[in-house]
Amino acid sequence: MQLQNDKSVRRRVLDLVESVRKNVGGPFYYRGVRDPVADYLGIKVMEKQMPLDEGQYIPSSPPQIVIDPVINDPDRRNFTFFHEVTHHLIAQDDDLTEFLNEHAYYHYEKVLERLCNIGAAEFLIPAADVRAAIEREGFEMSAIEALDHVFQASKPAIAIQFATCAPHQCVVVVCEHGLPHREREQNPLFQPGNARQPYLFVQYAACSPSFAYSCGRFVVIPSNHLIESAYQERRSLKGRASIPFVSGKEWWVDCDAHFYQGKVYAAFNVTSPPSTLQLGFNFTW
Ligand SMILES: [Zn+2]
Repeated sequence: MQLQNDKSVRRRVLDLVESVRKNVGGPFYYRGVRDPVADYLGIKVMEKQMPLDEGQYIPSSPPQIVIDPVINDPDRRNFTFFHEVTHHLIAQDDDLTEFLNEHAYYHYEKVLERLCNIGAAEFLIPAADVRAAIEREGFEMSAIEALDHVFQASKPAIAIQFATCAPHQCVVVVCEHGLPHREREQNPLFQPGNARQPYLFVQYAACSPSFAYSCGRFVVIPSNHLIESAYQERRSLKGRASIPFVSGKEWWVDCDAHFYQGKVYAAFNVTSPPSTLQLGFNFTW
């Protein structure tokens, strides 16, 4: 069946993930080079230090996934692995490949990466569980804490599912203090003397289906931003803040910045999220 629009493309990716989840059985987290999901899909997993990114999918025969063992954050390792697995699922699906080549030609890389993030999130925490949490507690980033106790080492996935499940227009980001992968000292491309001081940056970003703009990875959070204050004060803050776009464009909206375990999970609500009451009566998305 030909895929015509974003919605049917997203649905196809979720169906592919759901089918693998059903056939392999959980729990789902990266289990090393003999990971059962990789085994089931006939993918060879290698752990090797890489200069540019934390993971890579190679569509060879057999297909390969490379994971950089330097990643010491289990949340990021899990997310990276299932992101690469989704690259494989998409590469194997003729309809998705055709859609990307024909309809997403000018934004191929961006659309593909976004779909791989959606797939990775669905592996680690199904959208249905996040929808249920939003329905119960409202669209509050603090809900990440309760979900984290059930779906461990999956916080980036929870954040991305928040965006995917949002009935309103929003951008969700995960901000981390440190250096992006390619700027770290263990990196073979790292030149001594070029060390930058750690800073707060966007590690992951996702937008809701009804909002067309996202802010991209590795954007530096300005020192006077609400997210920086939440990080410095180690607490959650709500207020007006500008969405951290790569272009530097300013767009002020309501921001819900939740500090949790050393990172800031923030939602930029372009339109108002519905209340739990509205969600209870009209939960149709
Ligand atoms: Zn990718």
